[in-house]
Amino acid sequence: MDSILLLIMDGLGDRPDVRIDGKTVLQYAKTKNLDSFAKKGMNGIMDPIAPGIIPGSDTAHLSLLGYDPYKVYTGRGPFEAAGIGIKLKEGDVAFRCNFGTVNEKLVVKDRRAGRIKKGTKELAKMLDGIRIDDVKIIFEEAVEHRAALVLRGKNLSSNITDIDPHNDNMRINESRPLSKNAERTANILNKFVKESYKILNEHPINKERKKKKLPPANIILPRGAGIFPRMRSMDEKYKLKSACVAGISLVKGVSRLAGMDIINVKGATGGVDTDIDAKIKAVIKALEKYDFVLVNIKAPDLFGHDGDVFGKIKMAEKIDKALGPLKDVDCLKIFTADHSTPVTIRNHSGDPVPVTITGKNVRVDDVKNFDEISCAKGALCRIQGKDLMNIALDLTNRSEKFGA
Ligand code: ZN
Ligand code: ZN
Repeated sequence: MDSILLLIMDGLGDRPDVRIDGKTVLQYAKTKNLDSFAKKGMNGIMDPIAPGIIPGSDTAHLSLLGYDPYKVYTGRGPFEAAGIGIKLKEGDVAFRCNFGTVNEKLVVKDRRAGRIKKGTKELAKMLDGIRIDDVKIIFEEAVEHRAALVLRGKNLSSNITDIDPHNDNMRINESRPLSKNAERTANILNKFVKESYKILNEHPINKERKKKKLPPANIILPRGAGIFPRMRSMDEKYKLKSACVAGISLVKGVSRLAGMDIINVKGATGGVDTDIDAKIKAVIKALEKYDFVLVNIKAPDLFGHDGDVFGKIKMAEKIDKALGPLKDVDCLKIFTADHSTPVTIRNHSGDPVPVTITGKNVRVDDVKNFDEISCAKGALCRIQGKDLMNIALDLTNRSEKFGA
């Protein structure tokens, strides 16, 4: 059976822009390779979650992998925590965190502790493994001031408000329960944050920072609580041995929670400088070993958020060039995006994205270009993200009959 490649160009979908004669980025960009895949394939457009729903990258990736984001997604925390490598258990409540700077009145002076570069590993160690009441604290640092916190214990809830005030010069928030059963979790989180101040403020690393007039990383500011649900792995769900090639930790997190192997590629940064050629090379190698490979290229989304139409065009062309070697790879290939990030609104939108599927079993239509308008005329018509895996399983003869 053929392997399946799902190539996600993050935020690539767009809207018409007067700066490029009312065309979309994809209509304007010269994308020879993507066009040739469209010519050889079946094309359509896709609502990553549902028509008009604006997806996040996390909820969109979940949906494309066949998970119902409305069921499995309660907050970003678990996906961040899994992204930096924390192994979650069902019922864990996880948070994204910053190391921040507060004064003795717990007023936030710098939400990012001066974007601290060094020492967070040692500071994190002081918090990892401590207990608050009967709850175990798992705490790990990420890049710069970022970190993740996991509360592990019985009957926890993610239905609580953030500690992080999201602005400087405000006192930290008390976390409040949003439902009766969340009172205990909010209390534990509040206790943890006060404990973090006690432990971190006196730490030699912070004393040293104060001496050097640097903002001390003397408190943890959690936000984005989410509870880790029972999530069947890709192997359990589809009998697919699966891997992910991605630079950004959020996509790694989604993939890890879906039980996929993570393939780290040198130079795959998740930024605009990412080494796409190296990623594609890694993908081609992975396709020999895995039934399913997901690759995310983050850069188009970043240009979308910047409103940089010509930067996004250039990036689309750069990605297109890097896709050349895939022509010689024999497998089912899906080219698409996780959502649109129109340069005109500098944010995600609910517009559908183009999809091209190539492979020996696909019905080839007469679409000739990979863009939002051309693909809409293709044989795949308009699908939803949750349909994608089923279509891929069917086209690789993996589906089972429903009925007699
Ligand atoms: Zn995205
Ligand atoms: Zn985005």
